[in-house]
Amino acid sequence: MTISRSKKRHKVKTPGGRNVTHYKKKRPSYARCKNCGAKLNRPKLSVKQLKKLPKTKKRPERPFPELCSGCMRKYFKNKVR
Ligand SMILES: [Zn+2]
Repeated sequence: MTISRSKKRHKVKTPGGRNVTHYKKKRPSYARCKNCGAKLNRPKLSVKQLKKLPKTKKRPERPFPELCSGCMRKYFKNKVR
């Protein structure tokens, strides 16, 4: 039995009728906009794999990379008005 939580647990019913826990690698989730929750156009990779990428491939080179482009525009319009 694995106690570690670094892997995701899946309860699987075998053909023999037993309920067994299978352990699978956790998959990284999408980067999402902090305001509306839309998926951002970022690589869906783990932190370890992201380290190998250049900075320009991890976030856009514009202000507020944690927001989607629509929310960033709205933010600036509200600030100017
Ligand atoms: Zn957004």
